[in-house]
Amino acid sequence: MSRQRFDAISESRNRTRIPVEESGRRSALHATYVFNEERMLQYLTKDALQSVQSAIFSGMKIERKIADQVAEAMKGWAISMGATHYTHWFQPLTGATAEKHDAFFDLLPDGRALEKFGGGQLVQQEPDASSFPSGGIRNTFEARGYTAWDPTSPAFIYDATLCIPTIFVSYTGEALDNKAPLLRALHAIDESATAVAKYFDKNVAKVNATLGWEQEYFLIDKSLAQSRPDISIIGRTLVGRSAAKGQQLDDHYFGVIPQRAIRFMKDLEIECTRLGIPVKTRHNEVAPNQFELAPVFEEANLAVDHNLLLMDVMDKIADRHHFKVLFHEKPFAGINGSGKHNNWSLATDTGVNLLSPGSTPMKNLQFLTFFINTIKAVDTYEELLRSSIASASNDHRLGANEAPPAIFSIFIGEQLSNVLDELEGVSKGKLSPEEKTELKLNVVGKIPEILLDNTDRNRTSPFAFTGNKFEMRGVGAKTNCAKPMTILNTIVAKQLRDFKKEVDLLIDKKNLKKDEAIFNVLREYIKTSKRIRFDGDGYSDNWQKEAKRRKLSNNKTTPEALKVLTSKESLALFASMEVLSETEVKARLEVELEAYILHLEIEGRLYNELVFNHIIPSAITYQKSLIDSVLGLKEIYGAAHKELTEGPSGIIEIIAENIAALKKKTDAMNEIRKKANNLSDIQRKASAYSESVKPYFDEIRTHCDNLERWVDDGHWPLAKYRELLFM
Ligand code: ADP
Ligand code: MG
Repeated sequence: MSRQRFDAISESRNRTRIPVEESGRRSALHATYVFNEERMLQYLTKDALQSVQSAIFSGMKIERKIADQVAEAMKGWAISMGATHYTHWFQPLTGATAEKHDAFFDLLPDGRALEKFGGGQLVQQEPDASSFPSGGIRNTFEARGYTAWDPTSPAFIYDATLCIPTIFVSYTGEALDNKAPLLRALHAIDESATAVAKYFDKNVAKVNATLGWEQEYFLIDKSLAQSRPDISIIGRTLVGRSAAKGQQLDDHYFGVIPQRAIRFMKDLEIECTRLGIPVKTRHNEVAPNQFELAPVFEEANLAVDHNLLLMDVMDKIADRHHFKVLFHEKPFAGINGSGKHNNWSLATDTGVNLLSPGSTPMKNLQFLTFFINTIKAVDTYEELLRSSIASASNDHRLGANEAPPAIFSIFIGEQLSNVLDELEGVSKGKLSPEEKTELKLNVVGKIPEILLDNTDRNRTSPFAFTGNKFEMRGVGAKTNCAKPMTILNTIVAKQLRDFKKEVDLLIDKKNLKKDEAIFNVLREYIKTSKRIRFDGDGYSDNWQKEAKRRKLSNNKTTPEALKVLTSKESLALFASMEVLSETEVKARLEVELEAYILHLEIEGRLYNELVFNHIIPSAITYQKSLIDSVLGLKEIYGAAHKELTEGPSGIIEIIAENIAALKKKTDAMNEIRKKANNLSDIQRKASAYSESVKPYFDEIRTHCDNLERWVDDGHWPLAKYRELLFM
């Protein structure tokens, strides 16, 4: 019965060392598989290169003639690198990436073979889109969707295939993916932030949002992972008693990385380097077998692509090292889950980080402008930002007892809080020369370039300022960063646009000087966005109460959290920033809800499988051996058996009780699930799953874990936490 578990254990113990390629200097490998500027310089004419560069800068379309040239160059390079196929690489709403490979190979009518790839194939493709979720968009309009080249993210070679990053849209132009809205949001933030940055430096022509993600993950032996249906199918354990040694000892964090994991990481880093993913740090995380990988930050769209590619590469390299990577946000109960902090900032084409305090009062006023506008944006749209990281798997962290909480708040540290308090006292209207000097010397001028207390971070804050960037912490390990980045950049873009209007109005109508006008508007923002600032412990009961008083949202489940997407305010925001149309928002909501339901549906089915095909049968087998023993003792000792059989009899009863409860609870869960499935309104169906079905999961789990405690180890069918986590 439990053969699979024991076979897996012995396989996992007998792993041979996987040799790792010796790479030499990383800088020599960097981006060798990427058709980046360096390659373009080699393969393109000067005119073509300039067209591509200006398209990247301005977001304008590339002419067909140029596209043909680029395609020819890409093909030449890719074939020289051993590529045989090409694919449009895109991000359907399922959250992962998708691709459809075509060979370069083609036949002429006369039967001769050649390698073919032109501008047409580069710029646009029509994958069979019917199997990707569209939230009804494709049913109501044209059935087809197409992918279109995103020249801002360079093509790369992966597995002998030239991968061309693309957006995926319907024939009527609606986005069917996560990239198209992100690009629109990045365009919006560029426009708004550039306009504001010009107050401080006329030479700024472009602002890029930057993103540095930190990917957490677990590494589990492949055979052990495969021996458990829950880990194989959904990447988390639905049952399992905590190991005697959990993370209580806290000796894993920054501890020595195990050799087997190190070899995996080395291999991974070499592959990433070739693909242009600038991986930089690796370390152990809090939980056993949990690790983190972080790159150097990049322009947000590229960083998103690189994170998606990374997750793919990790799967592949892990397999070579007989590991399975778990990206699930909560693979093990009672042990830290995995997130993906999103570090975000804004950078000008003149090389300035707009969220970095500078050396002069003017630079600091610029910093404060972007800093306070970000706070204001998050305050106005906290609930929408929360919605961008909602998913069935992330519900196990947000709103459960794990950093950060589901309530959005911003940590800025004591130094900056003091600065904002000072600015709140700035006079209305024109400022006296004395006040201006005072501000320059003692407030704005006093922001140190390195903010000391921001190195001592408040780890429970969902949105923390960390010296020269904001860090959004609630993002799930599995999440496509495009989702939170689309919302964050949209809300800050909207905020900066409003800010510019207000400042210009004060300059034009009230005759204020530019810096006076800026101080005046910022003062009001500081006052009106106070509720979002919180430097304390996000877990205290006090904060939960206080947040409620401040009318901050506290949506603990995905169906709750997603509702705000289609509110009047959200729809107006998306429309005014031209990020998502109403149709697109509604479609997205539907896709997210469907994904949520599907996730819980699968978990429900898996519980059935685990309970009826694995756990109850094993418990009965063991129970039967106990019964045999009791009967044997009775036969030998007659009336005197009672004292002798007390132990086994007690265990027989405990097992019987748990089996009965399991049967009852699982049946009840199935009944409730059937009812939920009959609901036609998708929001109600998702809520039914969240409120009525899901609570049964915990109850079922409790009985399974009880049985794990009492059933003989040799009879237990599923790899235990100890085996999964402490090999
Ligand atoms: P840690 O949080 O581990 O102390 P750092 O503060 O150096 O490390 O950076 C964490 C992450 O923040 C890294 O992924 C890094 O690339 C990213 N980061 C640093 N500066 C920026 C920036 N200006 N914009 C976006 N991300 C950044
Ligand atoms: Mg971090």
